[in-house]
Parts: sequence; C-alpha cells; structure tokens
Amino acid sequence: MENGAARPAPAVIVAIDGPSGTGKSSTSKAVAAKLGLSYLDTGAQYRAITWWMVTNGIDITDPTAIAAVAGKPEIISGTDPSAPAITVDGTDVARPIRTQEVTSKVSAVSAVPEVRTRITELQRSIAAAAELGIVVEGRDIGTTVLPDADLKIFLTASPEARASRRSGELKGADVNSTREALLKRDAADSSRKTSPLAKADDAVEVDTSDLTLQQVIECVVTLVEEKRAAK
Ligand code: C5P
Repeated sequence: MENGAARPAPAVIVAIDGPSGTGKSSTSKAVAAKLGLSYLDTGAQYRAITWWMVTNGIDITDPTAIAAVAGKPEIISGTDPSAPAITVDGTDVARPIRTQEVTSKVSAVSAVPEVRTRITELQRSIAAAAELGIVVEGRDIGTTVLPDADLKIFLTASPEARASRRSGELKGADVNSTREALLKRDAADSSRKTSPLAKADDAVEVDTSDLTLQQVIECVVTLVEEKRAAK
C-alpha cells in the first residue's frame, strides 16, 4: 500500500435473516458495534407500522384497510447499534412495539404487499446511506431487500432452544406457550405470498442451538472480515 497509510475498510453490507429466537438481534447489534457498522432492525419497523395501525383503530384483519393507510405513518429508525431507536410520527415507540398485542398482530400487517413495499423502500434508502456499511436483520433481507448484500447469514435454531431463549427474554414466560406463539408467527411469516421468511440460496446457514451468543458473534465477525479482506 502506498506510503504505508492505513486503507479504510470498504463498506460492507451484511444481511442477517432467520426466524425469531435464533439470536438475530443480539448477534446483529454486537457484530455491527464490533466492526463499526450501522445497524438496522427491520422487525422493529414492521412492529412500528403495526403499532400505528392498532393505535389508529385500523382493522388488522382487513388487508384492504391496512393497504389504504400504509403510506401514512412516518417511521424513522436510528442506526446506532449501541442505542437502537425508532419513532413513529415523532413518538418514541421502542417500548410499545414490544407488547404482546403488537407481537400477535405484526405478521398479519407485514403480510400486506403495500406495507412491504413501503418498508422495503425505507430499508434500502437507510442501507444506501450507511457510509461504512451496515448489518440489516430481518426475514427477507438476503432474498428481497438487499439481494446484492456482500454477506448473507441465515440463523436457525431448534424450536426448543428458541422458545427457551424467548421466554428468558420475556422474564420467565411459560416456555410451552412461548413455543406455540413463536411457531405460529414463523408459520405465518414463512407462508405469506409476498417475500416470506426464507434462506437466500447464497446465504451461510448457522445453527445456533448449541452455540453461545459469543460463539455466534465471533463466527459472523470472522465471515464479515473475510468478505472485507476480499473486497
Ligand atoms: O424480528 P421481529 O420478531 O421483531 O419481527 C417482527 C415481525 O416483523 C416478524 O414476525 C415478521 O412478521 C415481520 N418482519 C418481516 N420482515 C422482516 C422483518 C420482520 O415480515 N424483514
């Protein structure tokens, strides 16, 4: 390298997909923080639009009603992995989007094509603006939102491992009912017509059932560094 100056790391786009309870969010945030990349939680965006629908009395069993107002809320996502933030029309919704009510309704809202078009556009513009690169986590990032991502990871884990992690996060919620709710949401997300939860053909699959979070983070960091070195 000329005059020995350190070359800045090239921008890298990382897509991390998979069902809930596989450690996607914790892994994505930690990898982004460790590598100085931006971070986008796309599930939070679908939760935010769902929260807006519920708050505004939209019938979430009526896809036509949802489609008609899909463009209305202004959703702004922060991209700092150490302080993920999300607002809807200026209101901080980081907490209310995690309620049981929103969790149980988000799959129906996110299955509406007009909602996906709107949120996908937002996601692409955020990724394009990330100068140093970004880790984007979701369900359809590698297949639909960012098909040209430099690295695609698909995280999996057994239903048992996922349910016990999720019930731990929910402060001791019953594992069996957590497992049922989680499988129901995955089934809905995987079977919808528009960009379902799916592994991209060129994604690296990592089964996290028997790995610690630290091990998953290290595995993904190594894969990103390899991609960066090859750029
Ligand atoms: O990741 P999280 O569990 O917060 O995602 C909430 C919901 O948002 C998912 O169950 C799914 O319905 C929807 N989602 C989606 N596409 C994404 C990310 C999330 O449809 N890329």
